[in-house]
Amino acid sequence: MTPSVDVDLQHATRACPKSMTYGPCGGVGDDGTCEVAPVPCSFLPLPTVRWSGARESRTVPEPHLLALMRQRPVVVADLPAVALSRDSLERAADRVVGAVDAVLLGDHGAARVQFSPSYRASLVQARGVPVWQGLNCRDRNRVALEGELAGLADLGVGAVHCVTGDHTLTGDRPDAQPVFDLDSTALAAAAKAAGVLVSVGETPHGPPAQRRAERLREKVRAGADVCFVNHAGSVEALRAFVEEAGDLGVDVPFVACVAVATDPGSAAQLRRFTSLRLPAGYLAGIESAPDPRRAGIAAAIALAQAYLSVPGVRGVDLSGVPTAGAELTTAAALAEIGCALT
Ligand code: SF4
Repeated sequence: MTPSVDVDLQHATRACPKSMTYGPCGGVGDDGTCEVAPVPCSFLPLPTVRWSGARESRTVPEPHLLALMRQRPVVVADLPAVALSRDSLERAADRVVGAVDAVLLGDHGAARVQFSPSYRASLVQARGVPVWQGLNCRDRNRVALEGELAGLADLGVGAVHCVTGDHTLTGDRPDAQPVFDLDSTALAAAAKAAGVLVSVGETPHGPPAQRRAERLREKVRAGADVCFVNHAGSVEALRAFVEEAGDLGVDVPFVACVAVATDPGSAAQLRRFTSLRLPAGYLAGIESAPDPRRAGIAAAIALAQAYLSVPGVRGVDLSGVPTAGAELTTAAALAEIGCALT
C-alpha cells in the first residue's frame, strides 16, 4: 500500500464508527450512507484494503462440514430460540436434530444480550446438533474473542462465522458502548489461528458492489474457508458474484442465505434485514397465500434448490427471524425444509 493510501486508510478508520481497518462493512446503504450516521461511508473512496498479515496455516484435520461439502450440499439453519432461555434453545435444537447439518447461532438485532457464544454452542451441541457459531466484533475485545475462540475450538464446534457485527446504535441496546477492537477480516485470521473452520459473510450488492468480491478475496487471504452469501436476490446475481470471486482466485465453497418466512410476522422481520435482496414477489407471495406457512416452506425449498444449481454453491443457510412465540413451529418448518433438501 502506498504512503498516501495508508494515510487515507487511517483517516477512513478514524471516521468509521466501527473503527474498521478492512472496511467497508456490509451495512453501507444503497446510496453509500454509513450504517450508523447520516454521512458517506468513509471507505467508499478507497481501493480494496489488502490483508496485511500472513494467512494462518495451522494444520488441522479436514473439518467435518468441509468434507461434507465436497460430497453434497449442506443445509445450515438459523436456530429460532428465545434469548437467554436454555429451555428454548434445547427444544428448538430437538426439533431440527437430524434434519439439518448444522445450526447457525448468530447475531440478533432484536436481542443483543445473549448467552455467551461458547455457552450457547455447548447447550446446542449437547442435543446432538452441530453448531456453526457466530462471533461478532461489537461486544468483545480481541482478548475476549480469543478466549471465546479457544472455548469453541475445545468444544469442537462445526465452524465459526466471523462478522464485524451491527453497531450498538442500531439494536435494542443503544446504551452499550461498541468495542470493534477487530473487524471481520481480522477475526477470521484469529479464528483460523484457533484451529476452527472459518466462515465469513459478504453481500454482493452492498456498496461498493464492484469491489465486494475483492473484499472476500482479502478475507480468504486472512483465513476464511467458507463464504456465506447474504441474501443475494436472484439466482443470476448469486451466480455473477460467485463467478467474479472465482475469477479473482477465490477458491472456497459458498453457502447461500435463503430467506424463510412462514407468517406475516416473520416476513415483516425479514424486511428489517440490512441490505435484504429477494427474488421479485418472494415475500408478497407468502403473505398473500391462503396458507402462508405452506407457501413459505415451498418458496424456501424452491429458492434453495435454485441457488444450489449455481456451480460453487455448496450449501444454503435457512435464514429468518421467527414471530415472537413461534420459535418452535418455525424450527419445525426449518426441519421440514432441511429434510426436503438433504
Ligand atoms: S458504513 Fe460501515 S464501514 Fe462504512 S463508515 Fe459506516 S460503519 Fe464504517
